[in-house]
Amino acid sequence: MTFDYDLFVIGGGSGGVRAARLASTEGKARVALAEEYRLGGTCVIRGCVPKKLMVFASAFKDQVEDAASYGWDAKIGAFNWQEFHPKLRQELDRLEGIYGNILDNNNVERFHARAEMVDAHTVKLSTGETFTAKHILVAVGGRPSVPDIEGAELAITSNEVFLWDALPKSILIVGGGFIACEFACILQGMGVEVTQFYRGEQILRGFDRESTDFISAAMVEKGVNLKLGENVSKIKETEAGLQVTATSGEVTLFDQVMFATGRAPNTSGLGLEAAGVEVGSKGEIVVDDYSQTNIPSIYAVGDVTNRINLTPVAIREGAAFVDTVFHGNPTKPDHDLVASAVFTQPEFGTVGMTEEEAATTGDVEVYTTSFRPMNTLFAGREDKVFMKLIVSVETRKVLGCHIVAPGAGEMIQLAGIAVKMGATKEDFDRTCAVHPVMAEELVTMKSPTRVVKGTS
Ligand code: NDP
Repeated sequence: MTFDYDLFVIGGGSGGVRAARLASTEGKARVALAEEYRLGGTCVIRGCVPKKLMVFASAFKDQVEDAASYGWDAKIGAFNWQEFHPKLRQELDRLEGIYGNILDNNNVERFHARAEMVDAHTVKLSTGETFTAKHILVAVGGRPSVPDIEGAELAITSNEVFLWDALPKSILIVGGGFIACEFACILQGMGVEVTQFYRGEQILRGFDRESTDFISAAMVEKGVNLKLGENVSKIKETEAGLQVTATSGEVTLFDQVMFATGRAPNTSGLGLEAAGVEVGSKGEIVVDDYSQTNIPSIYAVGDVTNRINLTPVAIREGAAFVDTVFHGNPTKPDHDLVASAVFTQPEFGTVGMTEEEAATTGDVEVYTTSFRPMNTLFAGREDKVFMKLIVSVETRKVLGCHIVAPGAGEMIQLAGIAVKMGATKEDFDRTCAVHPVMAEELVTMKSPTRVVKGTS
């Protein structure tokens, strides 16, 4: 049977674009890609990139205040969203253009249309066109998921933040994950009054608890009104704003309410049923270690598979798919020891196991340090950083590294190499310090803060 294409990619985000480009150039395949919204996907258009630019924007107040402490005649005024936002949009337009060029320059035919699978080899576009392909790759990502409560439709998600004409005066952010915590810090830094409700006992559940305790305290210190063990039970529109009734019974008015209550795989209306593709309990496409679905011609990568929902992981999955299918080199994407950063203020960089997880593998030594870094101490700030290494008593390997500090994302990228290589505590110790930097503490922690007995 002859097909219109060797590969049809559905979704023009990080994973889909990488796979399309590599399949076309290195795999010498005939490739098409359909994207219904904007090329670049969540990461570029309404995620990592605009979020990080907002993180930069929100940090200047403290930086200018610190500059004054260093002798500069510096004073900061109010943050002007109307100045910032058009530039943000321009930057996203530029990046979207780059993604388009990447596809064009690599001979990937692109369609600005929604695509739906009709069967194991056929894709139908919203333009009415139908194409066949030897392989189909689904890389459609995820979308915000909002709880089913009274008045939920009055609230926004992180998607809408990037479209705001003006900043609200006050906002309630619901959730305690990556998105909720990052936006709480960003918006607080921009001068918005931020309240955050998290239903559990500590934000960033699943991360190292000592680290999240530290972040939570720092966020409160900076002015986020964080309410733990609290959730929204209903939202009502009033002339004065959105009236929120909390599960505790407290009633408060906010200009905006934002749900950051998780993301769900974007699988509805994709034709998965027609194609016979198996879907899991959370709506995710079920794939094997090679990103192949139960239908041999259909693969899926990125958030739609709900494995590790991070851009660089989707990119790796896309590349591994191309190696497997177009290079005859079966390759499993490596999901072990993936470092990540949460762009709270202070930032959080983490790789490997939490203390709680590590203890399930055997006895562990826990090394911690907390101190006021030189630059902000000089400026008179109380801000502290926190660093933690978790070491296996038996193998001496560093099982986890957690850093809460300005620039922690940059630090963890490098510490992640050592941890991934299986470095021992003694390897860290014999690495000479770089002085004077915060990260030198990672190689100068001499005695364990505690030894935790294995729980296994
Ligand atoms: P997360 O899964 O990280 O967090 C969801 C939060 O919402 C949790 O605190 C969860 O609580 C809470 N929640 C879920 N359902 C409800 C509900 N019905 N009522 C109240 N609270 C609820 O999702 P995010 O949306 O923050 O982020 C999605 C994914 O995007 C992340 O997992 C991450 O992979 C990725 N991401 C990565 C970033 C980065 O790398 N810096 C930045 C932003 C996103 P509970 O803990 O109790 O379940």
